[in-house]
Amino acid sequence: MSLLIYAESADGKFKKVAFELASYAKKVAESLGTTVTAVTVNAGNVSELSKYGVDKVLKVTYDKLAHFNAKAYADVIKQAAQKENAHVIVLSSTTDSLYLAPLVAVGLEAGFASNVVGLPVATAPFQVKRTAFSNKAFTITEITTGVKVLSLAKNSFGLIENSSNLSEEDFTPNLNEADFSVKVESVEKSTGKVTIADADIVVSGGRGLKGPENWGMLEELAATLGAATACSKPVSDLGWRPHSEHVGQTGKPVATNLYIAVGISGAIQHIAGINSSKVKVVINTDAEAPFFKVADYGIVGDAFDIVPRLTQKLKEF
Ligand code: FAD
Repeated sequence: MSLLIYAESADGKFKKVAFELASYAKKVAESLGTTVTAVTVNAGNVSELSKYGVDKVLKVTYDKLAHFNAKAYADVIKQAAQKENAHVIVLSSTTDSLYLAPLVAVGLEAGFASNVVGLPVATAPFQVKRTAFSNKAFTITEITTGVKVLSLAKNSFGLIENSSNLSEEDFTPNLNEADFSVKVESVEKSTGKVTIADADIVVSGGRGLKGPENWGMLEELAATLGAATACSKPVSDLGWRPHSEHVGQTGKPVATNLYIAVGISGAIQHIAGINSSKVKVVINTDAEAPFFKVADYGIVGDAFDIVPRLTQKLKEF
């Protein structure tokens, strides 16, 4: 029995979530008394995984997998799990992995739990804690199947260094034409800026900023912090910002280390999408704005006064 993770990479480099997943898997493996195997697809420097406790890597190098293809990737993970006799398979919650995890579970006839936060509550029976109702509640879910597939909520565990003696093995999955019957083309918009998906910090603006001409100060704050910019739904509906920046229940979910909300009231649909962020800072003129109820730090004040001063102070560090 072993525990398998899918360590995601892009352009040969591991994504940060791969290391978070490895850190998490190591702790789960310890509680189950087993080891961690990672399967990688066209990844470069797999030895990086040893820093986070991975014991073994199954390296898949396959030209046809250069672009994400859910069916083929799910087959790779399934075959790796079967080869390793893995009883617990853990994926992350990126867009690709959220697509893959249920396919892997179906392929392995396994029980599946998404949005897992924290280590298993119990290992026999196997129970995990998950977020529910757009992050407004937690549930404890028991998985009764022999093989279990989990997807770990983003930024829910963090990175834990835990060096291991990594062994590497080339793995050639058995894929056929049917695996590639659906072709997915992805178009990456390259702005040169940090994207919401990769960001540790997000600076987000709402209707309180009055118009698109005022976004310069948010962009400057974001650039100073190495952050991505985001916005509330009405802001993108009004065309002040691109739809790709809309966060919330109907937009992108955000689970960053720091979320700074400027001129956003904190409607339930907005909070639902950002509530998993670790530290939430709110800047709003209205002390009664609902966002303050979920904020870790709040500034009651005018964004046009506070934001430039905050940026200036940060630049002085
Ligand atoms: P407002 O509600 O207009 O708030 C502006 C805030 O700015 C106010 O709190 C005000 O006090 C403050 N302010 C004004 N001037 C200043 C200043 N100078 N400095 C500082 N603060 C100032 N919304 C989302 O964001 N994401 C979603 O995914 C989403 N999905 C939805 C789904 C459904 C089905 C529905 C019905 C709604 C959804 N909404 C969503 C909309 C949501 O209900 C709110 O209407 C929206 O979030 C409000 O956006 P806002 O906070 O930018 O604007």
